[in-house]
Amino acid sequence: YAKHSGKNTFKFFSVALNKESEQKQKIARQLRKAIARNEFTLYFQPVVNVTTGAIKGAEALLRWNSFKLGNIEPSVFIPIAEEIGIITSIGEWVLFEVCKQNKRWQDLGYTTITVSVNISAKELSLRGFAKLVERTLAVTNLEAKYLGLELTETAIKKDPELSIQQLEYLSGLGVVIALDDFGKGYSSMSYLRKLQLSRIKIDRSFIQHIPHNREDTIVTNAIVTLANNLGLKITAEGIETKEQYEFIRTTLTDSAQGFYFSRAVSAEEFALLLQKGVLPPSH
Ligand code: C2E
Ligand code: MG
Ligand code: MG
Ligand code: MG
Repeated sequence: YAKHSGKNTFKFFSVALNKESEQKQKIARQLRKAIARNEFTLYFQPVVNVTTGAIKGAEALLRWNSFKLGNIEPSVFIPIAEEIGIITSIGEWVLFEVCKQNKRWQDLGYTTITVSVNISAKELSLRGFAKLVERTLAVTNLEAKYLGLELTETAIKKDPELSIQQLEYLSGLGVVIALDDFGKGYSSMSYLRKLQLSRIKIDRSFIQHIPHNREDTIVTNAIVTLANNLGLKITAEGIETKEQYEFIRTTLTDSAQGFYFSRAVSAEEFALLLQKGVLPPSH
C-alpha cells in the first residue's frame, strides 16, 4: 500500500512539475518579445518623508501586460527573465526609461525627486554595469543624485568583489545606493560595512506585524538603531496602516512607502501627486 501511494505521489508531483515548466516556458516565450512589443510599463510608488508626508521620490516598479497572457506580476516574470538571461536588456530598458522620465519631472520643476530602480544580480555582476549607468545618465541628462539603485544582498553575493567595485564607482558619481529588503536574508550585517550604501530599506515582513508583534517591533527598533549608528538613512517598506505609520514616526526612520500612502501609480498619476506635493494617508 505504501509503495502504491508513493508512486501516485510521485506521479502527481511530476505532472505538477511539468505543468509548471510548461507555464514557465510559455511566459519565457512571451517575455522575449515583450520589449519589442512595447508591453512593459513603469509604475511609480511614492516615497514620503515620514515627518511631513512630502513626496521625496519614487520606486520604479515594472508592470507587464502581455498581449498573449495578460497581466503578469514581477515576482513571477523577473525570476524567469533572470533565468533565461534577458533581465539585462529589460534592466537596461528600465534604467533608460526611469532616467528619461525623472528628467522630465526635473524639468517641470520637481527638482528634488529621486527615482529608484531595482537591480538584479545578473546586472550587478556584469562588467560594464557601472559604465552603462553612467552613460544612461549622460544621454538622458539626469544628475546622478536623482537616480537611486536598489539591490538585495543576493545580488551582491553573486560576485561580491565586482559588485562592491561597481557600487563604489556609482556612489562616487552621486548615485544613491540602497540595500533593499533588509533583514530578509542572513548575512546582511557584513555588507552594511563593505558597501557604499546611502540607505537601507527595512523589509515589509518586519513592518507587517508591528506594533502587535513584540519580537518584530524589537528587531525593527534594533535595525533602526544600527543603521543610524552607521550613518545610513532608512526607508520603511510596506506601511499599510495608521498604527504602522505612527510606529515608524517615533523611530528615526526618515522615509517610508506603502499602500497607506499610495500604491505604485502610472507616470501621469505620479505627476498629479507631485503637484499636490504631500501625501495624506489613504485611510
Ligand atoms: P521590491 O523592490 O521590494 O518592491 C516592493 C514591492 O512591494 C512592490 O511589489 C510593491 O508594489 C510592493 N508594496 C509596496 N508597498 C506595499 C504595501 O504596503 N503592502 C504590500 N503588500 N506590498 C507593497 P511589485 O511591484 O510586485 O514588485 C515585486 C518585486 O519585483 C520587487 O520587490 C522587485 O524585487 C521586483 N521588481 C519590480 N520591478 C523591477 C525591475 O524593474 N527590475 C528588477 N530587477 N526587479 C523588479
Ligand atoms: Mg525595491
Ligand atoms: Mg523591497
Ligand atoms: Mg521585496
